[in-house]
Amino acid sequence: MSSPAWAVELLDAVCTDAGVAPPRLLWRNRRGEHSTGVTRRGDGLMAVRAGSDLLDQRLTLLHELAHWLSTPARRRRGQSVHHGRQFYAVAFALYRRHGLTDADALRLESARYRSSLRHAVALGVTGAVEALAAHRSTIRARPRRRWRVLVPEHSIRLERDGRWAVCVTCRQRVVGINLARIRRAHRPVRHVLMTAAS
Ligand SMILES: [Zn+2]
Ligand SMILES: [Zn+2]
Repeated sequence: MSSPAWAVELLDAVCTDAGVAPPRLLWRNRRGEHSTGVTRRGDGLMAVRAGSDLLDQRLTLLHELAHWLSTPARRRRGQSVHHGRQFYAVAFALYRRHGLTDADALRLESARYRSSLRHAVALGVTGAVEALAAHRSTIRARPRRRWRVLVPEHSIRLERDGRWAVCVTCRQRVVGINLARIRRAHRPVRHVLMTAAS
């Protein structure tokens, strides 16, 4: 489907203000209230899957535009920081400038990224201190899961189990970043297997 007129106008306005070429915008609908988006700078592409909430559609497009306007910061090991302080400085400014109140921006943005609250506090967004405090007290009120040790701490030795790498001692699967880290490590990496106590 084609992008709604307001979205095309907003995209053009933001990119013109910033003096950058606009990305190509792909617009699709999804079920549910919330929208999702992704921006691929390399391909000059922005894709939004629009939920039913119009304000959330707007925030989603502006969130992706903030990605378009800000270069991701780099961490020590070369990973990009997509939702860091610099990103949120751009994002909250866009939200405010293009029709979202700080309260709506905080509510909708923190529904997708909790860490946005911390950045919003640092950026002085109105209501952020209260929103962060409210969020923290909700977390405190939640019943804690209790954990107990199933297999005590040990060095990881890997072996294959079908298509998986598993720890010889506790049989836990080791995947992704952890697997790469363990393979690279010069000294044995240790871990402990925990389980939720019922
Ligand atoms: Zn994002
Ligand atoms: Zn193990």
